[in-house]
Amino acid sequence: MEQKSVLIIGGGIAGLCVGVYLRKNGFETEILEMHTAAGGLATAWTRKGYTFENCIHWLVGSKPGGEMNETWKEVFDIDKVTFYDGDIYQVLEKDGSRLVIYRNVDQLEEELLLKAPEDAAAVREFTGFIRKLARFKMPGGDTFFARLASYLRALPYFPMMGKYGKLTMADFANKFKNPLLKEFFGAGFADLSFIAIPFMLAWMTAGNAGYPVGGTPKLIGLVVDRYMSLGGKIRFGARAAKIIVENGRAAGVLLANGERLPADIVVSAADGHATLFDMLEGRYTSDKFKMVYETFKRFPSYVQVSLGVAADLKDEPGFYYAALDQEIVIDPQTKTHSFSVRIFNFDPTFAPPGKTAVVVFFATENDGYWRTLRDDDRSRYDAEKARIAREVTAVLEHRFPAARGKVEVVDVATPATVVRYTGNWRGSMEGWLMTPATGIRTLPAVIPGLKDFYMVGQWISPGGGLPSGLLTARAVSQKICRDHRRPWSPK
Ligand SMILES: Cc1cc2nc3c(=O)[nH]c(=O)nc-3n(C[C@H](O)[C@H](O)[C@H](O)COP(=O)(O)OP(=O)(O)OC[C@H]3O[C@@H](n4cnc5c(N)ncnc54)[C@H](O)[C@@H]3O)c2cc1C
Repeated sequence: MEQKSVLIIGGGIAGLCVGVYLRKNGFETEILEMHTAAGGLATAWTRKGYTFENCIHWLVGSKPGGEMNETWKEVFDIDKVTFYDGDIYQVLEKDGSRLVIYRNVDQLEEELLLKAPEDAAAVREFTGFIRKLARFKMPGGDTFFARLASYLRALPYFPMMGKYGKLTMADFANKFKNPLLKEFFGAGFADLSFIAIPFMLAWMTAGNAGYPVGGTPKLIGLVVDRYMSLGGKIRFGARAAKIIVENGRAAGVLLANGERLPADIVVSAADGHATLFDMLEGRYTSDKFKMVYETFKRFPSYVQVSLGVAADLKDEPGFYYAALDQEIVIDPQTKTHSFSVRIFNFDPTFAPPGKTAVVVFFATENDGYWRTLRDDDRSRYDAEKARIAREVTAVLEHRFPAARGKVEVVDVATPATVVRYTGNWRGSMEGWLMTPATGIRTLPAVIPGLKDFYMVGQWISPGGGLPSGLLTARAVSQKICRDHRRPWSPK
């Protein structure tokens, strides 16, 4: 069979997965990655013995035999990963009250009824929905009949999905009187589709959304290993500037250094906005994509404060949220009265014995401020980062006395960092927000009028997340095989 060459722009999870599937199906592949490492948003960095995770809280598909587990096996050796599935997902505190979000739905229901008896009806509605979702299997399959059968199985769930799919987090928060429960649903992304939370808790109660010990470096390392072992190539420090188009088909990539790389097929696994409006200069943007880029909501960007604490903090919750009395100013348009911290006492690979890596996350829409500040006034940019780090350290030391005077490493990443290292539009953390308007449907992976060009990753899959990379890559590899009249196999 004739070898077709494919250039894949971007070595995040989506680019790596599409590389694996295409190598398995006999295509010659080269991933062009602008950074010096693979992973994109799925990354972590080390500072003085501490590893600071940027991404993963949980991976859908962590349980052997669970939904998506077999699919992950197609792209990496998931059995080499140890997953952590502690009883508690998150602890929330406000005005002296404490609420524990358990992974197990029965424990969760008991806790919510105890702490918020005034919301018993809404609590039971919520946990009932989680129990039903825990039995639900996402429809799909590789053949027409497998897909048909899966949709027939899913049919009884559709009315429930239709009902709850219309609600946002803010809508569901309104069902509760208890301030902490209101905060749990309302404090994050108010426009996010409500069903995102019961889905997450359904996967957790089924034991299928664990945290991979070693974090994203472990996981991404294994996908890179699989891709390389199949003979795939990766070129680091290779920033794609333009997609070369000849006679209505993608014919290669022009790198930012001026080098022209020809190819039979181009797949963009990079940021969607940059792909359509910069690399393709807006010339092949379909009406569908114009509508999407004008109306869909993005996940925000973020400031991440990472702290190396010379104390083991083993008795503290791994994921903690607190409503604060004082205000923390993140940037001129972003002020918050809350504090969301991950204490990696459950990952021994992230800090030397007796010490703990801690990460504090603040969402911001103000990426422009941070990028301009970094470009125009580097010393003020550094001073602002240092100010936020001081304020966060003070809150951490107040909440967790064992950390007092023990913060020995401080690192602050801003939206400017996210854009520099991943190229994501406006520093978005996860692409399109899944809202009642977007639903869970993926967007087209192809553009009318442009042959041999495909897109994968979070920007064609509202809700984003690592599974969006896997599943869009799998579907696009099938389409490429169909378009080039060759059989497809995941083996
Ligand atoms: C704080 C945080 C927490 C998260 N938690 C979870 C979680 O618990 N579970 C989960 O499943 N997901 C989580 N996610 C989301 C997940 O990380 C992303 O949705 C996913 O990694 C996106 O993968 P991607 O390959 O589509 O895009 P990206 O990761 O953005 O990859 C794109 C790649 O393309 C490269 N690139 C861009 N432009 C160019 C160019 N011009 N030339 C060459 N290369 C280019 C970039 O450098 C990057 O490597 C989280 C994300 C964040 C930020």
